[in-house]
Amino acid sequence: MKNAINYLLRLDDACPTMDKAKWDKIEIMLDKYSIKPIVGIIPENKDAELEIDKADPSFWEKASAWQEKGWTIALHGYDHLCLSTDGGINPVHKRSEFAGVSLKNQEDKIEKGLSVLQKHNLTPEYFFAPSHTFDENTLKALVNKTEIRKISDTFARTPYKRGEIIFFPQQFGYFRNIKIPGYWTFCFHPNTMNLEDINTFGKFIQQNQALFISFESIDLKFVKTLSILDKVFQFLYFIKRKIG
Ligand SMILES: [Zn+2]
Repeated sequence: MKNAINYLLRLDDACPTMDKAKWDKIEIMLDKYSIKPIVGIIPENKDAELEIDKADPSFWEKASAWQEKGWTIALHGYDHLCLSTDGGINPVHKRSEFAGVSLKNQEDKIEKGLSVLQKHNLTPEYFFAPSHTFDENTLKALVNKTEIRKISDTFARTPYKRGEIIFFPQQFGYFRNIKIPGYWTFCFHPNTMNLEDINTFGKFIQQNQALFISFESIDLKFVKTLSILDKVFQFLYFIKRKIG
């Protein structure tokens, strides 16, 4: 797999008030093609934009069933409310629930969030922050308060290690055919997809089923620190975002 093209799928913003019909449609498609995504669960959503359906009393059972069938569970922040206009160390957006927030406050969020998931029998090994934004204190908070050492986000071709944390880069917000070997994560927000988006999504996974792998199947033995070349890529990526 190391020198192959690997596709990874990430689904954001699962919570009891998510758009159940859309998530169900996506889940049926993924089951059909045996694709196992990473799914980011918001422990205590307070973001009004994600209050789409009435709170589903069976949500946590569903999340448990995802975990049972090999979907990777990620802790997706705490309440999904942005507290700062800081981009942190992955400045995809200038807003954040974490970047620029005090270490103590970040530790509290992460500790409380993890305990909500654990209470519902979920054991997240991954974290990713709302708006993709976090800072050095987020990494410290994870290390201080949890056993989570894996993050989906940042830009590079392959997973890499930085300090105690393994980063699984997240490069694209839509499907496209990639010809370069690497581990390419496509990130989707089922709550905001329309019918056409969902159909296009289904077609792509049907045609590219063989390229999809699960996060669980990545062999972490080979994960090293970022190469100089990838550091240059990462730097250029943010320069390009800033000017483009
Ligand atoms: Zn989110």
